[in-house]
Order: sequence, then structure tokens, then C-alpha cells
Amino acid sequence: MADYGAIVQRARDAFSTGRTLSYEFRMKQLKNLLRLFEENELDLIAALEADLRKSKMESCILELEICKNEIRQTMISLKDWMKPEKPEKTFVNMLDEVGIYKDPYGVVLVMGAWNYPVQLTLVPVVGAVAAGNCVVIKPSEIATASAKLIGELVPKYLDQECFPVILGGIPETTELLKQKFDYIFYTGSTTVGKIVRAAANEHLTPVTLELGGKSPVYLDNSVNLNIAVKRIIWGKLVNAGQTCIAPDYILCTRETQEKFVAKAKEVLKEFYGPNPKSSPDLCRIVSDRQFQRLREYLKCGKVAVGGEVDASERYIAPTILVDVQPSDRVMQEEIFGPILPIYNVDNAYEAIKFINSRDKPLALYIFSENRKETDLLIRNTSSGGVGVNDILFHAAAEGLPFGGVGCSGMGAYHGKFTFDTFTHHKGTLIKDFNIIGESLAAGRYPPYSEKGLTF
Ligand code: NAD
Repeated sequence: MADYGAIVQRARDAFSTGRTLSYEFRMKQLKNLLRLFEENELDLIAALEADLRKSKMESCILELEICKNEIRQTMISLKDWMKPEKPEKTFVNMLDEVGIYKDPYGVVLVMGAWNYPVQLTLVPVVGAVAAGNCVVIKPSEIATASAKLIGELVPKYLDQECFPVILGGIPETTELLKQKFDYIFYTGSTTVGKIVRAAANEHLTPVTLELGGKSPVYLDNSVNLNIAVKRIIWGKLVNAGQTCIAPDYILCTRETQEKFVAKAKEVLKEFYGPNPKSSPDLCRIVSDRQFQRLREYLKCGKVAVGGEVDASERYIAPTILVDVQPSDRVMQEEIFGPILPIYNVDNAYEAIKFINSRDKPLALYIFSENRKETDLLIRNTSSGGVGVNDILFHAAAEGLPFGGVGCSGMGAYHGKFTFDTFTHHKGTLIKDFNIIGESLAAGRYPPYSEKGLTF
């Protein structure tokens, strides 16, 4: 095991030189990170294929383009974001300078997850670099090929002292978490999120936790099912369901369920042909452990579509389950695979009650053309984010924060929210020795008894 204390100290020493603070340094690192993507596209796609059998399309759109876009947007806005903010002044500070300075935290740790191993590791890094921090980068060991490639490429493009990459599994991460960081940004499961937070607590290190959970879809009777089913099935099966904001289960009436299942059969054939296993567009499950866990879910309720598995390829067919019970494992645990259970509710009120009886989801999806009903669901539930009449896209909408609430996480990122996450907003008041200001504030000095308080 590497000497993590020495690696973090090296980053701390580099931070102390002040070289990460300048606009020029930050821009240079961001430009180099962009070059990393431009010059290594094929290798990155190959690594993602090796880890998850990701198609080129999904790798480009949902990993590489998202990273490149984040870097470009950050480069455009960086100068603005770095400037001290000048909040409105009240009468009391009329003669003073009031500012919010943007300080980097120092040495931060970014821990990525395996499901989008490039995007989830490097998008937070963009904001951390932009904010002027040194960053220790820890990709997930489960996506082996991607982690190895990140470990090879990052030192070729970024300052090696400021941005070290640590590879390894649980023992290495456990050791790494003993070090003192100034901020920790973690993406992964709720269980490990608790471990990370407990470790951070030792040093009173602030954390962002991007966790998981069960993201429900409320499907209203009135929507255009021709479009809704396509969007839901696509959102569920991207990355074979191994997406933190994948629709986890559907809440709808039995009547809508029947229509949904019939339409879903057509859509699946249209997307993946008569034998989805031979489609190049369906990813595989990342590990045997995950495969065995998912296989168990197929025993819940009744299989309405799919249900086939092939352990040799870690393949699970796109599957819809009906007649599930709230106590079934598939309705208790985050699914994180291509299995979609449907639970029947009679109306939006029942859906709200069901959602609110469980942990707060990372995403809530509402499919409805009734604006009043949509508002009712948005206002009476709590979730990390909401997508109405589409899946996943709220996470890509520029200007929106992305993050969880309650068990689905704390803190948010994307765009300026990432920059702000890795920035300490330092409230600063600057006064001068102007005699008018001094006489206006003279009432604060003792002796107090002669100042004529009126109460
Ligand atoms: P993972 O196993 O890849 O773990 C993530 C990180 O935690 C890795 O760096 C890993 O090394 C480390 N880790 C794992 N076990 C550890 C332990 N016992 N002690 C210390 N460190 C440990 O990812 P995962 O946790 O299986 O990821 C899947 C989960 O992540 C799902 O719940 C999913 O919803 C969630 N997720 C959330 C987001 C989000 O943005 N909110 C994105 C993707 C995934």
C-alpha cells in the first residue's frame, strides 16, 4: 500500500506554495483536462466497454461529452465565479466594503463510483480544480479498466503534486480516509456514505455525499403512453439500470399498468430487437456480486416481461415485475439493474403517501399532463430533484443543482454548484479610518451608562 500520508502531505505542500490560486494555473489545468478527453477518446471508450460493455453512444453522450461540457462551461465562467461577490449593503455598512471572498478549501478528496466511472470521478474534479484546490482523486476499483486508465492519464495532463490519483479497493480507501482532508466529495452507496462521513467527522471535514436510493415514477392515467413508455424504458435501461437516478419503480393504477406493459413489450422490441441479449446497446451487470443480488429480485411478484438471465455474461433481460408487495426485497432495496417493478396506487394522493413513507429519493419522476396534479406531487414530497415527463434529463439541465436529500445524500453539484461546493465563502468587512464613520459608530464605546438608552 502506498504511503497516503506522504501523498496528501505532498499535495498540502503544493497547496501551500499558492500556485493553485491563480486564474492562469486553474485555466491551464482545465485546458489540459479537456485535452485528456480529446486525445484519449478511444481508450476511454474501450475502458468503459471493458467494465460495463457500454456502447460507444452511451460512453460518448453520458460520460465523455458530459465531462467536456462541464469543463468548457467552467472555463467560460471561471473568472466571474472567482471574483469576490458584493452583497447589498444596509445603512449600518454604508461606508464600508462588504465582500464574499472565494477561498479554496485546500486539499480535497474526490471518490468516484463505478457506474459512470469517468463522469462521476472527473466532473467533481473539474469544480474542485476550478475552485483552486489540490485534489486527491480516488476512482472506484469496481470499474477496473476505467480506474486504471484514469490513473495513467491524469498524471500526464495535470500537475502531479497537486492532483494525485489513488487506486485501490476497500483496504486502501479505509487507509486513505484516515488522512486529514479539507473537503470530501463522495459518490456511491448510502452504506459507504455513512463510513465516509464517520471518517470525515474525525477531522471535522465537510462532506458532499452523492448517494442512491429508490427513485419512483408516478404515472398518471392521462399521459401519452406512446412517448411516456419510451422515455421510461430508455431511462431505466441506459447502463442496464445501473444509474443512480434510474427510475426504480412505477406507481400507477392497475389499468395504466396493463397499458404500460403492453406498450413496453413493443418498445423493447423496437429498441433491442426480438432478442435483447444480442443487442449491442444493452450493457452488462458490472460484477458477479451485483448480478446475484439482482437475480434474487426476480423471485418477487410476477414477471410480466423478460426475466431471462445468463450468468456467464452477467446478462439480465429487461424485466417488468407486477403484483409486488411493499415488503418485497425489490421494493425495499435500490434495484440498480434492468428490473422495473410496478406497484398499484389509485391516485396521486396514494402515491404521495407511499413516497413519503419511505426514505427520500434521489429523483422523483412524474408523468402527467395535469399541471395541478404535478404541482401537488412536487410540493408534497421531498426528493433530491424532480423530472416531469422525462427521465434523467433534469440532471443534465444547466443551472440546476444535482444532489440528494436525507438518505439520498447531502450537498449538490454541477456547473457553478460544483465550484461553490469546493469553495469557502469568506465573509469580509473592510472599514477605513474615516472620521464620519468613526463618529457614527462611537456609541459602541464604554462608558455605556451615559449613552441615553431609551428602554
Ligand atoms: P463503489 O463500490 O464504486 O464505491 C464508491 C467508492 O467507495 C469507491 O471509491 C470505493 O473504493 C469506495 N468504497 C467502497 N466500499 C468502501 C468501504 N467499505 N469503505 C470505504 N470506501 C469504500 O460504488 P457503490 O457504492 O456500489 O455505488 C453504487 C451506489 O452509488 C448506488 O447506490 C447508486 O445509487 C449510488 N450512486 C449515486 C450517484 C449520485 O450522483 N448520487 C451516482 C452514482 C451512483
